[in-house]
Amino acid sequence: MNILENASLLTFNTFRVHVKTRYLIEVSDVNDIRNFIGSELHAIRPKMVLGGGSNVLFTHDYDGCILRLSIKGIENISENDESVLLRAAAGENWDDFVAYCVKNGWGGIENLSYIPGTVGASPVQNIGAYGMEVRDSIEMVETIDLESGSTRKFSNKQCEFAYRNSIFRSDLQNRVIITHVTFRLKKNHCFNTSYHELKKELSLHPETTLGNIRSAVITIRKRKLPDVEILANAGSFFKNPVVDQTLLDSLKLRYPEIPFFLDSGGNIKLSAAWLIEHCTWKGRRVRNVGTYRKHPLVIVNYGGADGSEILSFAQKIQQSVLNHFGIGLETEVNII
Ligand SMILES: Cc1cc2nc3c(=O)[nH]c(=O)nc-3n(C[C@H](O)[C@H](O)[C@H](O)COP(=O)(O)OP(=O)(O)OC[C@H]3O[C@@H](n4cnc5c(N)ncnc54)[C@H](O)[C@@H]3O)c2cc1C
Repeated sequence: MNILENASLLTFNTFRVHVKTRYLIEVSDVNDIRNFIGSELHAIRPKMVLGGGSNVLFTHDYDGCILRLSIKGIENISENDESVLLRAAAGENWDDFVAYCVKNGWGGIENLSYIPGTVGASPVQNIGAYGMEVRDSIEMVETIDLESGSTRKFSNKQCEFAYRNSIFRSDLQNRVIITHVTFRLKKNHCFNTSYHELKKELSLHPETTLGNIRSAVITIRKRKLPDVEILANAGSFFKNPVVDQTLLDSLKLRYPEIPFFLDSGGNIKLSAAWLIEHCTWKGRRVRNVGTYRKHPLVIVNYGGADGSEILSFAQKIQQSVLNHFGIGLETEVNII
């Protein structure tokens, strides 16, 4: 366990916001977590867990303890003709894990290639992209309670997965530490190439394989999204709003071209990017903050912005969309 006092979080959040935390505690195995829970530091509140910092916005210094997980390891638990069960530690890099699975011919998460962050954070908001969500490959999530130190295993059902949500983002946020995630990956592939842009990119490849899907996804993402090393951001800032049929019908009367789609749970979703673009926010910049010119859902820090400047920019977008469409955009990024 490595303990830093009054530590900068600049390199630990992809918005590159310059904030400090009272304590930054690096844990590299489960014993470190136990040692922390048995130490004097444990009495300090608040506490939170941080992975790669690619889905958080710090709006002020953190007057508490931040646990940064760097627990590593991937274990092959069991295997049969159809599938393989893999137990991955929370501190593993998510995209390295996807690459490892694709290389071994294990499918189920290939469309989630190139999403930044850690394995441990993947169930928190049930990461999703290109028609796939991580919940469809998660068998079990192992946690340690931040207060009592008790361990608990959550089955897929107990994780209460929903669109960009789970029990770890709702009732249990900052109450448990996810230490390991067990995935069931398929050997008999059932590719998901329904997403229009992915289908188009794949047509440039001679055949549909796990590897080609991964390459196509990476190509699309590099084309569409800003590189966090060059332009600080945290991916999509807002969730796509879920609406009911009555609201959709009334919106269609005013905006016949409004895009909407049905998710796997049958919910009607609008495109937050379209709503934001319609309110003329695409590519707009106010001082150090703006929306990315190719993707209005991504808010970027051009350099030097603090968290409250980014948040106030995001709130202006929310207000605009509310005034124009009567729809409240929910943030996907965790505001701290
Ligand atoms: C360029 C870019 C593109 C992105 N594209 C996508 C995308 O396509 N789809 C998508 O779903 N997301 C996307 N994201 C968001 C982000 O990458 C994911 O949400 C990712 O899972 C966050 O991982 P992290 O380790 O950085 O988590 P962090 O940002 O460190 O943490 C996120 C939340 O999870 C909690 N948390 C983290 N680790 C643990 C743990 N071990 N135990 C308990 N709680 C924990 C934190 O407390 C926090 O509330 C994108 C982000 C960027 C910057």
